[in-house]
Amino acid sequence: MLVLLGAPGAGKGTQAEILAPRLNLLHLATGDMFRAAAEQGTPIGLEAKAYMDRGELVPDDVTVRMLLERLTAPDARQGVLLDGFPRTPAQAGVLDAALAERNARVEEAILIDVPPEELVRRLSGRLVCRAEGHIYNEISKPPRVPGICDIDGSELYEREDDKVETIRARLRQQVPDLLEVCDHYRAQGKLRSVDGTRPIDEVTEELVAALTQASGSAR
Ligand code: AMP
Repeated sequence: MLVLLGAPGAGKGTQAEILAPRLNLLHLATGDMFRAAAEQGTPIGLEAKAYMDRGELVPDDVTVRMLLERLTAPDARQGVLLDGFPRTPAQAGVLDAALAERNARVEEAILIDVPPEELVRRLSGRLVCRAEGHIYNEISKPPRVPGICDIDGSELYEREDDKVETIRARLRQQVPDLLEVCDHYRAQGKLRSVDGTRPIDEVTEELVAALTQASGSAR
């Protein structure tokens, strides 16, 4: 299992979309799971939506239950790229314990590092497709046809929590926890960091290089 860490807007989702097929891993994003559940109107989805709309983290017990259940599905056996989980030290601890029970573990955690002022700029230009959650940016990654997903032709929309007021709340609330999660993996010698301000394809190559280096040093 690999973990992609980063503040909202750092590019976790964008990079995970590229890396997961390349590394033959299942891409699991707890934010996508919550948005899908909210759209379907399930109890977890409705509970999560209230927190998401305020830019707050969904409580650990709800998040952990949802993620651990998803990890039991057969398609998660091939290896997983986690995007947006763990986001608190408690989540990181529960994940370690759950994986240890299955003789598995987080191999590497990679932080996509981007300064806060750049995060606000990116999040306020972000667009997401209705069908599959493919990610665009009005400035750095515009779609070929405005308002339409290049990949599946569905409509692009601005996430409710990408409004400027909510963006600031998300960063204020989530960055301190992110730093603690980084400490968790640093203490295990598993944390690597890449410069997330570079162009998308360069960040991808840096991530691949960091992973190759990691698997080399693990041997
Ligand atoms: P994301 O799409 O990763 O930016 O996540 C959107 C929102 O979903 C976050 O702002 C949180 O409200 C919620 N969320 C996603 N992942 C987690 C998590 N691991 N723990 C708590 N809340 C989460």
